[in-house]
Amino acid sequence: MSSPIPTAHAREFAAAADIAGDCYYEHTVERGPARSALAGTVQVDVGIVGGGFAGLSAALELSARGYSVALLEAQRIASGASGRNGGQILPGFSCDIEVLARQLGEGDARRAWDLSIEGMEIARQRATGLDMDCEYRPGWVLYAARPSHVAKLRNWHAKLAGALGYGEHVEFVEHEGLAAWTSSQNYHAALVDHHAGQVNPLKLALAMAAACERQGVRIFENSPVTRIADGPSPVLATATGRLECKKVVIAANVFVADLDVPVRHHVMSIGNRIIATERLRPEVAERLLARGYAACDTNFLLDYYRVSSDNRMLWGGASTYLRHDAPHRFAVLRGKMVEAFPELSAVRIEHAWGGLIDVTMSRAPDFGQLGEDIYYLQGFSGHGLNVTAIAGRLAAEAIDGQRDRFDLIARIRHRNFPGGALLRRVGLALGASYYRLRDVLA
Ligand SMILES: Cc1cc2nc3c(=O)[nH]c(=O)nc-3n(C[C@H](O)[C@H](O)[C@H](O)COP(=O)(O)OP(=O)(O)OC[C@H]3O[C@@H](n4cnc5c(N)ncnc54)[C@H](O)[C@@H]3O)c2cc1C
Repeated sequence: MSSPIPTAHAREFAAAADIAGDCYYEHTVERGPARSALAGTVQVDVGIVGGGFAGLSAALELSARGYSVALLEAQRIASGASGRNGGQILPGFSCDIEVLARQLGEGDARRAWDLSIEGMEIARQRATGLDMDCEYRPGWVLYAARPSHVAKLRNWHAKLAGALGYGEHVEFVEHEGLAAWTSSQNYHAALVDHHAGQVNPLKLALAMAAACERQGVRIFENSPVTRIADGPSPVLATATGRLECKKVVIAANVFVADLDVPVRHHVMSIGNRIIATERLRPEVAERLLARGYAACDTNFLLDYYRVSSDNRMLWGGASTYLRHDAPHRFAVLRGKMVEAFPELSAVRIEHAWGGLIDVTMSRAPDFGQLGEDIYYLQGFSGHGLNVTAIAGRLAAEAIDGQRDRFDLIARIRHRNFPGGALLRRVGLALGASYYRLRDVLA
């Protein structure tokens, strides 16, 4: 682990600009020694590729239904996005509900929405009910970043309260009422969601892994799967072992790119980053974000932030599509934080890190099957805390013979990203430039 960044100077951000960085959450846990790698041949009912939220959720749900399960993780549990994200547990998906309605019809889009709410509930129950304090707190505020966003936010509130049946949890706050929620002068209105929440994501993932093991799941770390052999019973091969299974669940996020499966072209990786300040005085933290509610803005390339349970501002955003974009991104993040909260201009940034997000073309999640026995869960598109939770449950249900809820999401069609890796990145970077411009001009 690299050492904390001592000042907020842009050059020091640049020095920490590799996507791994120095993840604050790693300082909040004691991981202990690594679990052993897979060795020799092991046989189970279900083999899982990937020890992030999606893989762990599937493992928990399958073992609870009586299946023998082994999970293979390339590095340590939650070393990918699950251990380094914003920790915001939100309703819905990364795409607009209209995207789902166009593909599934209004009725099934509503059923998909309900699944996203069930995913929130599963995540909350795990964060509060397993053998670890995962720092769960309720509440989230979506701030209108532009005057032109106010009407859209109002419409969204009406839809939540009407067709989506979520009205009891949300309230619309006009500009005059914002002072009760934040000291920032940047915003024009807000939607407060008392049902959403926040968590220390690494603690949640480690709590899930421990719960898996209590339920008999065998977890192997430092065990990258190099090959998936299909056949009457699939085999997951690593450098040191073979896992023979009846069913496989691939939950490898962007690293699906390294596996020889056709659906790897459905997702594209983008980098996203977070900075953590030094500890703030509690009264300052409460002034920035009342009741400790987490926050996002309404820009397409959004900023998301929250105050950690030890009173640091964790500020995230600054997606990157091209490698050369990376070095100044942490400075961009700090600039946005200070623009929203000028009183943070002198605070030290103590941690800066990033992670990779698996976006699909439509930003809808991508679940499905490759043949009879291999399932995949991917395309969370930066909205994974709730959706990975339900994804694991749906995969377990399907393997257990109840297919209807899994098939609902699997019906969403996904297009391949066109071109080779470089062309894809350039295309996405151009798209991002357009949205950046749109965010500024809107
Ligand atoms: C910076 C950042 C902030 C975010 N903030 C939020 C947020 O606030 N709210 C929200 O809802 N979502 C957020 N997300 C998205 C969320 O973190 C992800 O959607 C979610 O964690 C994805 O879980 P996963 O299990 O699919 O992937 P991961 O957590 O990445 O897990 C995949 C795992 O598979 C392993 N693996 C890959 N290939 C192999 C292989 N061949 N063999 C064995 N193991 C393999 C990897 O090592 C990794 O541990 C954020 C993401 C990032 C990066």
